[in-house]
Amino acid sequence: MAKRQEQEAAREEVTEVAPGILRLELPIHMPGLGHVNCYALLDGEGAALMDPGLPTPGSLRALKSRLARADLRLKNIHTVLVSHSHPDHFGGAVHVVKESGAKLMAHTSFSLGFARPAAPEVSVGDLHAHESSLRDDPAPIESHGGCEPEGSPRAPFTPTLSLPDRGTPWGGEHPRPSFKMRIRWRLMQLMQRSWIFPAVSHPLAEGDVLRLAGREWFVVHTPGHTADHFCLHDPVEEVFLAGDHVLPTITPHISGLSSSRDPLAAFFESLDRAAAIPHVRNVLPAHGHPFDDLAARCEAIKRHHDERLAKVRAIAREIGPATVEAFSRRLFKRRSWGSMAESETYAHLEHIRKTGQAECHQNAQGKLTYVL
Ligand SMILES: [Zn+2]
Ligand SMILES: [Zn+2]
Repeated sequence: MAKRQEQEAAREEVTEVAPGILRLELPIHMPGLGHVNCYALLDGEGAALMDPGLPTPGSLRALKSRLARADLRLKNIHTVLVSHSHPDHFGGAVHVVKESGAKLMAHTSFSLGFARPAAPEVSVGDLHAHESSLRDDPAPIESHGGCEPEGSPRAPFTPTLSLPDRGTPWGGEHPRPSFKMRIRWRLMQLMQRSWIFPAVSHPLAEGDVLRLAGREWFVVHTPGHTADHFCLHDPVEEVFLAGDHVLPTITPHISGLSSSRDPLAAFFESLDRAAAIPHVRNVLPAHGHPFDDLAARCEAIKRHHDERLAKVRAIAREIGPATVEAFSRRLFKRRSWGSMAESETYAHLEHIRKTGQAECHQNAQGKLTYVL
């Protein structure tokens, strides 16, 4: 089967995807993804950049060469926007700000507390995006997180990185990145303030209005994929900068390891909020190509999660009280087993529990077990 569009390699060409908005594809090599879209919003003063890619030399080189194709240099960038706290979105921000003196905008809740080197961008079911990762054959049966305090409201801030070493809330293992990635992350921790972790000079909140690319944009807070995710909506030209919230053919990873009480419920509410915006005809996602029907794509993503929830409930009826690991092994194919699949399964189980349809107990081994 053909590659999903989100997996395609970054192209050098720069395309104008709406009046005054350029799509710059930057290289990333993450499971299920081949590029990240950085959007340049042009005006008489220069440009704003939304999501300037990874902090790697290769990505920064690509960013500079794409900008040059549009007759822009880093010093022409007056604003950097970061849709959410994932490295392929915020990573290049510090370098761009340092070179240009640009303002840096992110949501008021922007936090790197839950950013992990191994955190996937896309749903475990989409890591092998053109194949199905959900099980169609049953596996043999084997065998809480509170809300973070809100960041200080609307004051400039520098988020810090924490990498908790404790086990997961459900009693499983934390995702373990490769040795190379652990070393790189450790270096980032040591250098965090000066190197890649951006200091947000202009915190944004729901309903804020920004003037960029010669028009007004409304900030739409869309927690779910991360608690700090936001999108931008231009109601006049009917353009929606979607970040990772709504992707064309795959679904973003919804982690159980989140600062949200119920990340899946938050994601559903954010999808409803996006779907309710009338007349959006040009959706510009952070991965993949522009598409035109925001409401239909939001509905399709909700249906996908509803089907997964139904599958989790069916598994619960079949196997009775079981651990998150046991659920995830029934839900996903063997190649996807592990902490990522468990984190996603945990988010679904917690949603079922928090909507009053299941109970959760701790077993003798300290692992959570769920029963309808
Ligand atoms: Zn993301
Ligand atoms: Zn992304």
